[in-house]
Amino acid sequence: MKNKVFAGIDLGGTFIKFGLVDMSAQVIFKSSVPTPKGRHAILCEFERVIELMRQMAQDRGLRLQAVGVGSPGIVNATIGKIIGRSPNIPGWQGAEVGKALAKATGLKVVVDNDANVMALAEHRFGSGKGFGSGLYITVGTGIGSGIILNNQIWRGARFAGAEIGHTIIEKDGKPCKCGKRGCVEALAATSAFIEYYGRKTPEPGGVKFIFDRAKQGDIRAKQAIAAAADYLACGIGSALELLNPEVIVIGGGIAAGGAVYLRAIRQGLKKYASTSCRRKVVVKTAQLGNDAGLIGAAMLANYAH
Ligand SMILES: [Zn+2]
Repeated sequence: MKNKVFAGIDLGGTFIKFGLVDMSAQVIFKSSVPTPKGRHAILCEFERVIELMRQMAQDRGLRLQAVGVGSPGIVNATIGKIIGRSPNIPGWQGAEVGKALAKATGLKVVVDNDANVMALAEHRFGSGKGFGSGLYITVGTGIGSGIILNNQIWRGARFAGAEIGHTIIEKDGKPCKCGKRGCVEALAATSAFIEYYGRKTPEPGGVKFIFDRAKQGDIRAKQAIAAAADYLACGIGSALELLNPEVIVIGGGIAAGGAVYLRAIRQGLKKYASTSCRRKVVVKTAQLGNDAGLIGAAMLANYAH
């Protein structure tokens, strides 16, 4: 019998990342294509890359067994349908991704929220390995998160849960993209770092620049990082009180800032979470980087198969 492999697809606003992953979560092949515009075009592109991966598996004497897709927005993971709006992918809401792809390819297809599949990958094969429960946070232009409880993804009753980015930490605070005010995302994502820095950065979304400046001793950069980390810690503190997880894993572009950022978060948690909730909680950076989404999607397909 041929060795089984799984296809993982990670849909983003700019790129579709995809790859073949084996049973032990090793990436055998990966690539990416630009995200086309519109629901139909995206589904057609998915079909094309799945066929490409099926062929590629066959050429290597492997068998493509199932497909997993991670998508932004609220996803009904039971039926593989996008039920919430995703601002970066217009027209995507309502797409019956699971049904359409299963019909077109004849393969088992599972679909879930992108932060959930990332959390799953980190939990089973990355920084969360060995823990039973964890909170997984991605900090970039937005703040995404996934919650794993008893080794299972916690999606909420209507698949809309696990959004630490949109918990409110400042009443009537800064407006957030979601329409509310004072959310963690509005106060701790990349745009907030730049605002706290108070100066133009050479490249757009220049958080790396701010971290580099902080390393060189720039006080203003250090303060900006501390301010953003403190807001994130405030959000995490409340999550610790609610969930009391074993590990907090922080990924995304900002996690590259590493030690200084994590230190500020740990420091903040002392203020925002009670000793009993934060005692022994491990705060660390994500391990799988950009591959987490496609690995998690593929592994979800593996478990569902
Ligand atoms: Zn919000």
